[in-house]
Amino acid sequence: MTENNSEQRLDFIRQMVVEDNKSGKWKGRVATRFPPEPNGYLHIGHAKSICLNFGIASEFGGTCNLRFDDTNPEKEEQEYVDSITDNVKWLGWDWQDRLYFASDYFQQMYDFAVHIIESGKAYVCDQTADQVREYRGTLTQPGKNSPFRNRSIEENIDLFERMRKGEFADGTKTLRAKIDMAHPNLNLRDPIMYRILRATHHRTGDTWCIYPTYDWAHGLEDSIEGITHSICTLEFENHRPLYDWFIDQLPIHHPQQIEFARLNLTYTVMSKRKLLQLVEQNLVKGWDDPRMPTISGMRRRGYSPESIRNFCTLIGINKFNSTIDIALLEHCLREDLNKTSSRVMAVINPLKVVIDNYPDDQTEMLDAVNNPEDPSAGIRKVPFSKVLYIEQDDFMENPPKKFFRLSPGREVRLRYAYFITCTNVVKDSAGKITELHCTYDPATRGGDAPDGRKVKSTIHWLSAKDAIKAEVRLYDHLFTSANPDDVPEGKKFTDFLNPDSLKTLDNCFIEPSIANAKPLNRFQFERLGYFSVDIDSRPGKLVFNRTTTLKDSWAKIQQKPTADLI
Ligand code: ATP
Ligand code: MG
Repeated sequence: MTENNSEQRLDFIRQMVVEDNKSGKWKGRVATRFPPEPNGYLHIGHAKSICLNFGIASEFGGTCNLRFDDTNPEKEEQEYVDSITDNVKWLGWDWQDRLYFASDYFQQMYDFAVHIIESGKAYVCDQTADQVREYRGTLTQPGKNSPFRNRSIEENIDLFERMRKGEFADGTKTLRAKIDMAHPNLNLRDPIMYRILRATHHRTGDTWCIYPTYDWAHGLEDSIEGITHSICTLEFENHRPLYDWFIDQLPIHHPQQIEFARLNLTYTVMSKRKLLQLVEQNLVKGWDDPRMPTISGMRRRGYSPESIRNFCTLIGINKFNSTIDIALLEHCLREDLNKTSSRVMAVINPLKVVIDNYPDDQTEMLDAVNNPEDPSAGIRKVPFSKVLYIEQDDFMENPPKKFFRLSPGREVRLRYAYFITCTNVVKDSAGKITELHCTYDPATRGGDAPDGRKVKSTIHWLSAKDAIKAEVRLYDHLFTSANPDDVPEGKKFTDFLNPDSLKTLDNCFIEPSIANAKPLNRFQFERLGYFSVDIDSRPGKLVFNRTTTLKDSWAKIQQKPTADLI
């Protein structure tokens, strides 16, 4: 592969890095950062940014910092810091010793602000928030200068110092950059750099009662850390001139801000504000509810870090906002779990089957393949006995033409075991089927008939006396609307929550081979999907989350009436 060819496949940010390395812009250095605000748990959108920043650093021999952008004490908490570090690590990235907090730079930022005041480029303003808004103008109308804009440098320095000392009430003064109230870019109309806010910070406590704004602080954080490529999402494109303006006022390193399109996914929401609302209103069971698009939720549901990283690679990086079909994420998930998950048998809607001609007290241990995708995973033994459970769905008393699973008089294969034929259906007084009676053909042990006769279907099963009871939680999309961010007038996004997003089944059974499975262990339950052990499991009571279904053949079959229900 020539160098040119390999470059052609790079996204525009990686291409920029290659060009910078060629031109020597940063002397070959590549320094990125992932800068979350600790005001919520990370979601799959953050994973895109994490994989981009850490990925570029690792591909180009650079570094990526984990930096908490903790400049807004009202919404930030240590719990969020802990969950974020944990999630980044789990995704497989390593910031080594480069864990930083914007709050550690508060003094430096303050000194930089004094420098800007001294050069006549910032002033203390007494306008209220409403007045600031009113004076800002609009896209079509220039703003008006604040009456406090022409304060002397000395007065500004004095007032700013007194703001810091706590002499003024919250919201009564701000420090503003003196740029241009008629600037076509509204972000440059004398933006606010500091506000007075008496709020206890999760790290600096009550040391500060003035806090920097995002626009003022972010570039400084990047500069202090020697970042080369400061990658952020598209909504900051209009802020880039301000990012550059602030840094240009100071004799400091000037990183390059680069914007890319944020990730949106169908059937979910990605804003931390909305996710927080779901948590606070108990509309989900917490940030790590397996239905949430948070990394913690996905992890608990059974996602592997590889599947999330592969998804991030597959969707790539571009400059246009779009919404990715959640089915693509599930596809990446299945691809990875198919390769890595041990297969086991489980029955989630049990129907009792008695094999009439099987010896009463006999148990046989039959060989079962652990992972057909990975021969090195080997085989295990599963017990077979006279009384079994099969899936209620695998039996129909009056089957339609294309249903080939068990029905009266029909012979099917029990996976890894025998051919059985249904001879009798037992019902209760209400007409509900309570058990089936079958016969087995001892010659078909291991699943094939020596006389070459075929069956049209293979179903899974468990030995009733050996099966272990478990709870299973089935999930569906969190929202019924593909785009819950875009709701009709008068509706809230929460109006579109899917009432059937969680279905709990508490009379399920699993193979004894996984009786000692640990939280977060992943399995494929044959024919049912991928499952992982939930953290709610207790000794003697396993709880499984269905991570995702296998290929949805049922839905396809329903659309295609000619297909067979095998
Ligand atoms: P939200 O809008 O959900 O509150 P945020 O941008 O305010 O997200 P931060 O904690 O500031 O959350 O984000 C940290 C980093 O992750 C930022 O660089 C941000 O651009 C990036 N990021 C956030 N959401 C997405 C997304 N949906 N897709 C890609 N990157 C994202
Ligand atoms: Mg943000």
